[in-house]
Amino acid sequence: MNKCVDVAILGAGPAGLTAAIYAGRYHLNVMVISEIMGGTAIQAGKVENWPGFSGSGIDLMKKFKKSAEEFGADFLEAGIKKIEKTKEGFIIKTEKKDIFAKTIIIALGTENRKLDIKGEREFLGRGVSYCATCDGFFFKNKKVAVVGGADSCAKTALYLSNFAKEVYIIYRRNKLRCEPISFKKIKKRKNIRIIYNSILRSIKGRESVEQIELETALKNKTKRDFLNVDGIFIEIGSTPITEILSELNLQREKDYIITDKNCKTNIEGVFAAGDITNNKLKQIVTAAGEGAIAAKSVYDYVRFK
Ligand SMILES: Cc1cc2nc3c(=O)[nH]c(=O)nc-3n(C[C@H](O)[C@H](O)[C@H](O)COP(=O)(O)OP(=O)(O)OC[C@H]3O[C@@H](n4cnc5c(N)ncnc54)[C@H](O)[C@@H]3O)c2cc1C
Repeated sequence: MNKCVDVAILGAGPAGLTAAIYAGRYHLNVMVISEIMGGTAIQAGKVENWPGFSGSGIDLMKKFKKSAEEFGADFLEAGIKKIEKTKEGFIIKTEKKDIFAKTIIIALGTENRKLDIKGEREFLGRGVSYCATCDGFFFKNKKVAVVGGADSCAKTALYLSNFAKEVYIIYRRNKLRCEPISFKKIKKRKNIRIIYNSILRSIKGRESVEQIELETALKNKTKRDFLNVDGIFIEIGSTPITEILSELNLQREKDYIITDKNCKTNIEGVFAAGDITNNKLKQIVTAAGEGAIAAKSVYDYVRFK
């Protein structure tokens, strides 16, 4: 007979790892299941808004994981395929094995939105990237472009400008939407240039990325330009993970899971935390806060059931 854990935490980003720390401290049996340890947060080159810390997202997430281990969480590194609800709880079907749990905390975060343009898929890993901290290293002294205009785009551009020769920010509007502090830093960097009112139309090259095609809006017309770059980082936002959760019939708002202030969902025994929920601010500190609340709700649920 397979052991049934008190809580299976789906995802090991800031929300999942914090939930694991709190659940461990409540003496619950915890199994954290994830593909990428540390989640999206490991893409942050420098985290300055986790109180009391200044360093890379990777280093911060290593600390989260160490704390979760110290409080007894078990980890399974595997892709989750499907979740089934049973009378007793849940079966989480993964690439490696099935996990049985009384409750689940969904902390699966989001996935990168794609541009769906010519060359994007073809040059993935050959100049096209969605993660500067993972791939930025390959672009030392090279020319790169970053597509987007929000905070993750600004941070990616700043990170890349530390070693790339030139960084172009390609944005379709006429003003970046990033935090003012990031914008101020961008303005100070000599090797970052912002190209406003421009849409990336295609990515071209032979073995790897060599050129991008831009369509720029002028007053009464548009013009096509070609820019020679060695790499292109796509930072146009993200969408919540949905597919593997389809059988749970969770209530959603624009695909984000609706939770109450205790991180409960509409399904009994299912809790959710972090970027996958319909919270307002998608950040490490909010994901961690929700992870802690979700763990407390699981504790109350398991204890009083
Ligand atoms: C470039 C960039 C820079 C950022 N910089 C900052 C910053 O400086 N400060 C800040 O506060 N926030 C920053 N953020 C935002 C921050 O990273 C997120 O808000 C935070 O990581 C959300 O945490 P989460 O735990 O909800 O989800 P995530 O961190 O996305 O974690 C999701 C987890 O679910 C797992 N998962 C998903 N699908 C499956 C599956 N099918 N099977 C198994 N596991 C799965 C993933 O592997 C991962 O472990 C940045 C984001 C980006 C992209």
